[in-house]
Amino acid sequence: MFDVAKIREDFPILKRFVNGKPLVYFDNAATSQTPQVVIDTIVDYYSNYNANIHRGVHALSQEATDKYEASRIKIQQHFNAKHSYEIIFTSGTTHAINLVAAGFSEILNPNDEIIVSALEHHSNIVPWQMLCEKTGAFLKVIPMTEAGTLDMTIYHRLLNKNTKLVFCNHVSNALGTVNPIKEIIDAAHKIGAAVLIDGAQATPHIKPDVQALDVDFYVASAHKLCGPTGVGMLYGKQAWLEKIPPYQGGGEMIETVTFQKTTYAGLPHKFEAGTPNICGGIAFGAALDYMNAVGFEQIAAYENELLKYATEELLKIEGLRIYGTAPEKTAVISFNVGAIHPYDIGTILDKLGIAVRTGQHCTQPIMDFYNIPGTVRASFSFYNTKEEIDVMITALKKAVMMLS
Ligand SMILES: *Cc1c(COP(=O)(O)O)cnc(C)c1O
Repeated sequence: MFDVAKIREDFPILKRFVNGKPLVYFDNAATSQTPQVVIDTIVDYYSNYNANIHRGVHALSQEATDKYEASRIKIQQHFNAKHSYEIIFTSGTTHAINLVAAGFSEILNPNDEIIVSALEHHSNIVPWQMLCEKTGAFLKVIPMTEAGTLDMTIYHRLLNKNTKLVFCNHVSNALGTVNPIKEIIDAAHKIGAAVLIDGAQATPHIKPDVQALDVDFYVASAHKLCGPTGVGMLYGKQAWLEKIPPYQGGGEMIETVTFQKTTYAGLPHKFEAGTPNICGGIAFGAALDYMNAVGFEQIAAYENELLKYATEELLKIEGLRIYGTAPEKTAVISFNVGAIHPYDIGTILDKLGIAVRTGQHCTQPIMDFYNIPGTVRASFSFYNTKEEIDVMITALKKAVMMLS
């Protein structure tokens, strides 16, 4: 039995009121809430062993280094990477993608091709456009369908001997579509292209196995899986991480420095210039421990129930349209009601204590595809309840009445 009441006790923020109403937090696809154990980990770091890592011989520095490296191993195990040095700490998904894009700017030649999906977050479009401008490579797009899935027939046709890189998210943040990444990876490898999967939206619900996927790069942000902001990770296959040059120069990432020549440190330090988010890295590990204790299978099953229930209840509202109806989805629902502007609905829901997202969700191409200014997006986590969905449905009916 999944005891959601007990789980909610772990999240102090869920007790708060907004505009005089109990908070209903349905903006989990933007950032997740933080359980007490992760908050305690952060407090413990600053209260007891705050020090810079990998440098000092003193006790605090040793402790901080040990905990930081232990966290790297937790992440390695969680994603089933072969080596802990294939896990690079970054400030988040965006940083991880830019790190890889910058590396490939040294590898790509004019007329090489990069494929991205039509379902990408802006952070997975803009770096590749910048990369193409710099290298003369071309950007090709896997189109999307009305249901919000990828047109895989066209994907297979786009692949050719010039394709060097394929970028796709594991789950779309705007629509919740779970993309067929294994098929994408296998087909890309057949023609010798590398694949980067953006797991920012998948990792709160799915435990990916990077070796089974045989993916070249996989990236994620801690703040979407119960961890703090400002920390995330890049998984890269050892051979790729050795091949691409460092992203930033600075302390930590060097072996020897003279004014004539600097030699770089080995993995993972080559990509970790400067003092990292030490506390954040340690808290990232604590967040994974917490989520694994709850259990990813239980999380997925419960969230699926919430998704099914909310979808059914929402569709009872006249004029409501859900965008993204893929057979396999995470608990994200993007919708509009008639011609009412999503922002107006979001504002009324907020007055009633309900946090949803409104707008383009950093995915303007998807909104353009549907020819809409944006959507209202409700995204659920394992600490949400059916009762909260009922509260949203009642509030939504009220908002529709006021606005139409
Ligand atoms: C949130 C998100 C990002 C960006 O993550 P940051 O933590 O802001 O770097 C990228 N891609 C997807 C699919 C996301 O959901």
